[in-house]
Amino acid sequence: MTVLRSGVATDIGRARDSNEDRASAGDNLFAVADGMGGHLGGEVASRVAVETLERAYERTPTIAGLREAFAAANAAIWEQSLRVDELRGMGTTLTAAGLTVGTDGRDVMCLANVGDSRAYLMSGGMVRQVTADHSLAEERVRHGEMTEAEAETHPHRHILTRALGVGPDVDVDLWELHVQSGDRLLLCSDGLTNEVSVEQISQVLHSVKDPRKAARALVDRANAHGGSDNVTVVVVDVLVGEDGNAEPSVVSRVTATGAPVGALPETTPAEPETGPVQAVPSTTAPPVEPRAPAVTLPANAASDMFVAAPITSAVRTLAPPEYHPPPKEVAPQPKETRRQRRRRLGVPRRITVRVVLFLLLILAVPAGGIAVVRWYSMDNWYVAVDHGHLAVYQGRQGGFLGFKPKLLDLTGVTTTEVLPFRLPVLRQTVNEPSLGAGERYIANLHQEFIAQRDAAPLGSE
Ligand code: MG
Repeated sequence: MTVLRSGVATDIGRARDSNEDRASAGDNLFAVADGMGGHLGGEVASRVAVETLERAYERTPTIAGLREAFAAANAAIWEQSLRVDELRGMGTTLTAAGLTVGTDGRDVMCLANVGDSRAYLMSGGMVRQVTADHSLAEERVRHGEMTEAEAETHPHRHILTRALGVGPDVDVDLWELHVQSGDRLLLCSDGLTNEVSVEQISQVLHSVKDPRKAARALVDRANAHGGSDNVTVVVVDVLVGEDGNAEPSVVSRVTATGAPVGALPETTPAEPETGPVQAVPSTTAPPVEPRAPAVTLPANAASDMFVAAPITSAVRTLAPPEYHPPPKEVAPQPKETRRQRRRRLGVPRRITVRVVLFLLLILAVPAGGIAVVRWYSMDNWYVAVDHGHLAVYQGRQGGFLGFKPKLLDLTGVTTTEVLPFRLPVLRQTVNEPSLGAGERYIANLHQEFIAQRDAAPLGSE
């Protein structure tokens, strides 16, 4: 029989305006989810993940049941994101541990993870990271393309390569943890691990006995270091384990078929009285990966201080994580345009509406210019002398840019039927605003001549 006691703490942090993290700490199930996808989407995704997980694991509290619970949570988030526009693209990390019966018939903690929230196991004087982050930087570290130090500051360290709810299916990493009395399990969102070093986490886990106070202390540490993200911590203490302290705790990776693989003793109990305490990798494990240096405390450290130790390469290499970039985090490939597709298929170009409009525009420019010139040249009338008669013309005298004046009215009034002093002006033309105005002007000149003639005394001619 295994007896557990847990503490949970979550905080909005000091830079965010909402808490998109979600935690769960029941009797036999513990979880941390870190939502993403905007204010609303992140909160919904992490809440749906945890609630679905709790219901599903309650129905089937087994290792296979935990995997199915993750699948159910993934489906619930994915379907909701398809239904609601405001939630499109939402997703979440999910790290969960459940107490169940292992394949050997003994109590075991089953651990599952998707994303970059983490699980650490403190056992036998060491704290080790069990989960492997599904982030772009960590994937490159695992593929030998980047060092751990580079990954810690790399701009891609927050880009997830796997998350819950961003696709119809999801791969889940699973482990069996054969825990012992005195072991302590930590689940946390990246709001803790981005702010607080694993050495400091180890110090708190060791020095603060009450799991609730330990969880709160870790959250406070994250806020004291900046609190740039939501931070959530679940601490689970194994008060009574099935095997007492007779055997070291064992961490085993579980394959997709549900079988544990390569169960290795992961820890070696530290000797508190002998000064520096080192993480000792299993002698049966393959060579340790370069990203996982052991951490050693100084000789004058407290004798019961625990040491942060990396997970051994055996756990990391049993099932190399695959790279599944969530769609919203990775820049999409540019789509082939219709023109590029037609060119690739050898389809001849066709005259489109756009081409026609362009041609019309090309033609409209000179046509418009001609219209303006024509309007200017013909928007004028003048009175002039034509073969001894007064006449009204439309246009500019002498023409304008090829548009010649047009004779509109050759009147019967001759130059001898207007007063002589009018003739010099008439020979230089007199502009009028219209044909009618020109005709009235001529009529007036003629009336003026008649009136003068009739008024003249006889014999004055
Ligand atoms: Mg976070």
